[in-house]
Amino acid sequence: MQNNFSLSHRKEEPEKGILYLVGTPIGNLDDISSRAINILANVSLIACEDTRQTKKIMNKFNISNNLISFNKENCLNKISKLIGELKTGKSIALVSDAGMPGICDPGENLVSEVKLEGIDVICIPGACAAITALVSSGMPSSKFIFEGFLPKKNIDREKILFEISKNEKTTIVYESPHRLKKLLLDLLEFCGGEREIMVARELTKKFEEHVGNNINNAIMYFKDKEVKGEITLIIKGRKKEKNQELNKADLKRDLKELIKAGLSLSAASKYLAKKNGIKKSIIYNLN
Ligand code: SAM
Repeated sequence: MQNNFSLSHRKEEPEKGILYLVGTPIGNLDDISSRAINILANVSLIACEDTRQTKKIMNKFNISNNLISFNKENCLNKISKLIGELKTGKSIALVSDAGMPGICDPGENLVSEVKLEGIDVICIPGACAAITALVSSGMPSSKFIFEGFLPKKNIDREKILFEISKNEKTTIVYESPHRLKKLLLDLLEFCGGEREIMVARELTKKFEEHVGNNINNAIMYFKDKEVKGEITLIIKGRKKEKNQELNKADLKRDLKELIKAGLSLSAASKYLAKKNGIKKSIIYNLN
């Protein structure tokens, strides 16, 4: 596997035998770069999720090129074909229906397999719904957690919801419109109605809206509405406890008392961790 390559001596794009990951708009077709248009117009072929979606971009910018479908259903079978094409010197652009390929879209596997073959991968960056929503939320955006779509299976879903409820960083979640109300109720249960959120709907499109400002308000807003369009949620992290340092001292004291009363360090840590909703190891290491 070839790990290092340098862009400093790159010739005109697109180059032979390269996989280009091309970011495309998440709604507004004008949100595409001239570099992306050049790549789409001049690569040997474009691998895309839904050819009808990609054709909309191509028609808008008068691009004609070879399209090959690469989606959730067929992606595993198509990887070796695409690698074969790259090895013969063809250049390929990978696009998804919207946004950055590889972010909750097929593409991840292709990129890892292509890199294992020592083939260069270059990203032409573009819009991403997660980042677009995050930066317009007004919530802390330099450190964040991206969860994508939450699992549907209860046990996995509850684990993630619990993590979201405890986390101090902003969390980004994707959701489909018909599952939004359920997600808001789940968030109410785990985070409480006062937790700040922003429901970003139809970003970059005509009916873009940002709904918040907390879980209770978002539930009320969507209560009697049929939710349509594309949805990204931004959930503010849990507030830091005001007296966190003091709590630490309190925890240490509680730990000592429990041990004095006869509990093992492990049992006492477990008990205090559960009581305070924090990791056992944090308490354990206070000793
Ligand atoms: N690769 C895409 C990206 O970079 O954002 C995400 C693809 S994922 C299959 C599609 C999900 O992204 C949607 O269900 C929605 O949660 C979110 N999304 C995409 N476009 C959006 C938009 N215009 N407004 C809000 N959310 C959007």
